[in-house]
Amino acid sequence: MPSVLVVEDDPGIRASLIDILTGDGHTVLSAADGFGALREVTRTALDAVILDLGLPDLDGSDALCMIRGISQVPVLIVTARDDEAEIIQLLNAGADDYLVKPFSGGQLLARLAAVLRRTARAGVLPTAYGDSGLPAPGPVTVGSLHIDPGARTAYLDGRELRLTRREFDLLAYLAAHADLVISKRTLLTEVWREQYVEEQTIDVHVSTLRRKLGEAASSPRYLQTVRGVGIKLVTPR
Ligand code: CA
Repeated sequence: MPSVLVVEDDPGIRASLIDILTGDGHTVLSAADGFGALREVTRTALDAVILDLGLPDLDGSDALCMIRGISQVPVLIVTARDDEAEIIQLLNAGADDYLVKPFSGGQLLARLAAVLRRTARAGVLPTAYGDSGLPAPGPVTVGSLHIDPGARTAYLDGRELRLTRREFDLLAYLAAHADLVISKRTLLTEVWREQYVEEQTIDVHVSTLRRKLGEAASSPRYLQTVRGVGIKLVTPR
C-alpha cells in the first residue's frame, strides 16, 4: 500500500491522522515540523505527503517550496485557514490538493485517493521512478510479457496481470534489464528505495509474482533465481 508522510505538529491531530491512514492500509511516517518533513522526503520513497500549514519552524508555503525543490511527491495541504487567496497561491506553488480543518477521515481518504490516482495517470509514478522527477520509461516486451510503466499495466499472453504496486515495480525493473542477473542489493536500492528492508521481502514478492505469472520456482518460464547472486527475467525460448 502507498506510504504517506503526515506532517503535523499537534500530537493529537497527528495521532488521529495516522490512525485514519493506517486503518485504510497506508504505511504511515510522520514528522512534527518542516525540517523533519524535509528529512523524510529526502530519505524515503513516499507516495504522498499530507502537510499541515501551521508548523512551528517553517511557514507552510516555505515547507512546500522546499519539498518541491527536492521531490515531485504529491502534496496534500491541510490548513486551518479557509483563505482562498492563500490556497490558490499554494496550488500554484505545487500543492496537489488541500483540505480545510476540520475535516472527516472519509474526506481525507477520498482526497488522498484522488491525488494518488491523478499522479499515477500523469505518469508521475509514486514509487521507483517517482522521486527522480524523470518521466517513466517506455513500454517493454519480453517474450509474451508486455509492460507499460507509464500506464502501470502488465500483460501476459494478452491477459492483464493484477499486480500490487511493488510487484509491478519489481517486474518493470527486471523487464527493463531482461536477461541480466540483478542482485537483491540492487533491487533494494532501485525498486524498494528503502534502507531497512530485509532481502527476504524480495523473495516473498518474487514468489507472489511468479504465481501471478503462472509459473513454479522449480521450472520458471520468466523469473529465474540465480542462487547466491540474484534474479533475472529471461526471454523464454
Ligand atoms: Ca499545526
